Amino acid sequence: MVVGSTQLEVLNEYERQQIGERQPLPERYLGVSDEELEVRISAARAALGDRLVILGHHYQRDEVFKFADYSGDSFKLAKVAAERSDTEFIIFCGVHFMAESADVLSAPYQRVILPDLAAGCSMADMAAADELEVCWRELEELGVTDVVPVTYMNSAADIKAFCGREGGVVCTSSNAVATLRWGWERGEKILFLPDQHLGRNTAYSMGVPLDKMVVWDPQQPMGGLRPDEVAAAKLILWKGHCSVHTKFSVAQIEQLRLAEPEVRVIVHPECTWEVVQAADASGSTETIIQRIRESAVGSVWAVGTEIHLVNRLAKEMAPGRTVLTLDGLGCLCSTMFRVSPNHLCWVLESLIEGEVHNQVVVPDDQKHWTRVALDRMLSIQ
Ligand code: SF4
Repeated sequence: MVVGSTQLEVLNEYERQQIGERQPLPERYLGVSDEELEVRISAARAALGDRLVILGHHYQRDEVFKFADYSGDSFKLAKVAAERSDTEFIIFCGVHFMAESADVLSAPYQRVILPDLAAGCSMADMAAADELEVCWRELEELGVTDVVPVTYMNSAADIKAFCGREGGVVCTSSNAVATLRWGWERGEKILFLPDQHLGRNTAYSMGVPLDKMVVWDPQQPMGGLRPDEVAAAKLILWKGHCSVHTKFSVAQIEQLRLAEPEVRVIVHPECTWEVVQAADASGSTETIIQRIRESAVGSVWAVGTEIHLVNRLAKEMAPGRTVLTLDGLGCLCSTMFRVSPNHLCWVLESLIEGEVHNQVVVPDDQKHWTRVALDRMLSIQ
């Protein structure tokens, strides 16, 4: 599809509303060779020294990931952002909601930079604060008030702020079981958003039957549910998903097992319930890494998560184990991919010149309750 200039203006306006003013990569950073970028990023990193820390999510491309002082999933990187108060800048090589959380958890004098502000997350975009307000009001109209809102880390700051204000919490795939337990200790029902699959897979692993879960569709009046369905539910799942992890299928697992009878399949809990049931194991990115590294030498694994992590596991993170991607091709998160070495080079060299580009700032009116929800998350292990 050819995107015309009017559509681009609309897109740019949409991006501005969603993620703040984005400063595009200057032309002089285009067409620079990988070798030159590596030399220049290393030099800028060395010149900036202790003034900054670089955080890299596991789904980042290698040319960026190798410069990370800390790598991890969103839970681990949020903890680092909260602990490393000794730097002026946090360069977050990840996506927008992660940088927002870092801004909230870091010290007031620290500035968080996302090298490309267009690095968003389609799942996070599936839950908007006004839709959540409507959902909450409609639940009240149904007489359903003993509800704890739990939002996945992969959501915008205003969604997290809502959860903090309404007695809820943020969770990640690393602490989802403990967080759902926390929620049910405080309310009869949990409203879980935006990822229905993480919510369903986690609750099912805790013994909650599928018929005690319903899916709330924000595009439908009353979520598209009957009052008796909501009343009977223990878990209300927002109709959102990850466009990367839902590409994995049961058919892929079956085909792989035919070709590789020894293979063990491990998938991320953002995959569908059917895929998680068909796999041998599931877990957060940190769990996937740990399980494969701790497996017997000679083991063969097929992994259902983003391709950059799978490739890194295959090449260097799990010596002696064979690691394959579940779908045979690899699922790429295109928004994670937006953070390029060119962007990283630009923001670092600009800092040396005293210019700050693509800073992520959570508005003051959202900061307090977002912090409350994130602090609750960090206290739940
Ligand atoms: S992998 Fe899915 S949930 Fe994670 S950043 Fe990409 S689109 Fe969002």
